[in-house]
Formats: sequence, structure tokens, C-alpha cells
Amino acid sequence: MNSLRCLTSTRYLVNKLLLSTPAQSSNLILPTLLSGKSYQKFYFSREFSKKVGKMAFSQDELKKKLTKEQYRVTQEKGTEAPFTGEYDKHYKPGEYKCVVCEAPLFKSDDKFDAGCGWPAFSATKDKTAVAEHDDSTLGMKRTEVTCSKCQAHLGHVFNDGPKPTGIRYCINSASLKFKNSK
Ligand SMILES: [Zn+2]
Repeated sequence: MNSLRCLTSTRYLVNKLLLSTPAQSSNLILPTLLSGKSYQKFYFSREFSKKVGKMAFSQDELKKKLTKEQYRVTQEKGTEAPFTGEYDKHYKPGEYKCVVCEAPLFKSDDKFDAGCGWPAFSATKDKTAVAEHDDSTLGMKRTEVTCSKCQAHLGHVFNDGPKPTGIRYCINSASLKFKNSK
């Protein structure tokens, strides 16, 4: 009975804090109220919801919505095997959206065959469609590309693309969803 009362009052305090304090200070105070796994779970779900904003998908929802490969690539920064992706040799007219949040990312007009085994684009649909991050994993210095809207991992960008941009966005098919132009 005591532990139940304790749990209820903790929940009450947490709810009160969430309603009354800005995120930063509640993140500092909450570890004293929640311990171990329950805090971690709470903290990460809060961070995750913040990242995806209005389209807050839980990890469980994403696992249902996406295939295992789409989840591994977009949420765990995986890379599909070269020459295996659905859009590697795909050149129909249309646009490529984020497989997670459906934000438009690339146009078929900017797609080219780089011969590397992954879909390659010389430009993004608009300047704010993707975000770039330094990536020094696997002993290489690369620039990771994510969806600006939901942070899904897309692939990497290199400076060896065709003119006029000279840029090559090397993107996993598993991160994309193609929409035919009408
Ligand atoms: Zn997205």
C-alpha cells in the first residue's frame, strides 16, 4: 500500500513538473524522482517526442510502420547492402519522400547513376529538406545526411557529384518512399 501511494505521488509530481517547468529544468529535477530504467525510458521518450514534433511516433509504432530494414537504416543509422535497394536502378519521374514522415526530400530530375550501388542525387528538393552532421564512424570522415523533419538517417553526402552542383547524396533506398508525378 505504501509503495502504491509512493508511486501515485511520484506520478503526480512528475505530471506537475511537466506542466509547470521548462524541459531543461525538468530534465535536471526528474532524475531525483525517477530512478534507473524508469527515468531512462521516460527521458528518451520525451527526447524522441521532441525530435519528431507533431508526428511523434513511439519506437513501437515505428517498428510496426516500417520494415525491419527500414527501421534498422533510419533509426539505427544502418546501411543497406549495395545494389540491393529498391530505388538503386529506379528512374521513374516523381519525388522521393522520407519513409518515416513523408517529407519530400529529392526529385527524380536530380537522380543519377553513380554506379556505387545506392540511389544518388545531385541536389535535395529544397535547401532545408535534409540536415548534415559530421560522422567519423568506421575510421572515415564523412558527412551524414538526415531528414530535417524527423531526423531519420538517410545516408551520406560527398563532393564527387556531377556538375553543376558537384555534390553526390548517397542515400539508402530503405529511407525513401517514391511518389509518381501525375
Ligand atoms: Zn522524415
